[in-house]
Amino acid sequence: DFDAPLPENGDEEMQKVVNAFSVTQQRLHEARETRKKVLADIHHELRTPLNVIANRLEAIHLGLFHWDEQTAAVLQEETERIQTIVDELEQLNDVDAGVRKLDCIWVVVQEWLPKIVSLFAAEADHRSVNLKLSMPVSPLCIWMDKNKMSQVVVNLVSNALRYTPPGKNIFVGVKSTIGQVLLSVRDEGVGIEPEHLPFVFERLYRVESSRNRETGGAGLGLAIVKEVVNAHGGEVTVRSWPGKGTCFQILLPEHDLNQHDVNQEN
Ligand code: ADP
Repeated sequence: DFDAPLPENGDEEMQKVVNAFSVTQQRLHEARETRKKVLADIHHELRTPLNVIANRLEAIHLGLFHWDEQTAAVLQEETERIQTIVDELEQLNDVDAGVRKLDCIWVVVQEWLPKIVSLFAAEADHRSVNLKLSMPVSPLCIWMDKNKMSQVVVNLVSNALRYTPPGKNIFVGVKSTIGQVLLSVRDEGVGIEPEHLPFVFERLYRVESSRNRETGGAGLGLAIVKEVVNAHGGEVTVRSWPGKGTCFQILLPEHDLNQHDVNQEN
């Protein structure tokens, strides 16, 4: 019981050990509390779509609903929601397991980034959002775990698409600054209120008040971004102007080509 008073034995060394033990107990307690909260949140996130599916199916079974296109659409939407949450949990698990085991290679930005951005071309088109990409003309190389960094860009661009209304722009850009590479995803979407901004990289944090619960996943997308970027020795920051847009910036250290075995792709 770490709330119990410490024994007053006058022995300083003993006291230090007891104090250290008490701090460890406190940390364990906090870790357990966090885990409890995370599990409760995941439980809630999965429970909602599962309830919708179960209720719909039961209503059909009882003859209260007919199997029509609208029902199919609802079931598909809710299933996709569960799928997104499960995918995010899987990504986070991979990140947790592999943060120290980055599988880095030299990647030429001009060959890599257009491929990732083009994955979103159809969706952007469908939603009448302009997705623009700007890159330097001269080849720029980044030393990175290609799969994990691709996931980072996918998470940022899919968020930007989710929160940007038709007719607006999303800018994806890369440039080389002194000793660093700057990768940015900027949108002209709804923005994030200042009170939420410091927490968006936390696991399971979602801006819910003004948002439709239907959008987004479990609030893990940006936590994954931060962990992957940090694992690369980089830093991710966000600035946002409510009603005007949001800008995520990633700074990655530029590596000296000679320091590594050039395990170049292509
Ligand atoms: P999720 O997995 O639910 O999308 P994220 O970790 O990606 O969660 O994002 C955390 C919160 O930040 C979400 O509530 C989302 O609404 C908000 N957010 C993330 N990106 C943007 C953006 N580009 N514009 C506005 N809000 C955003």
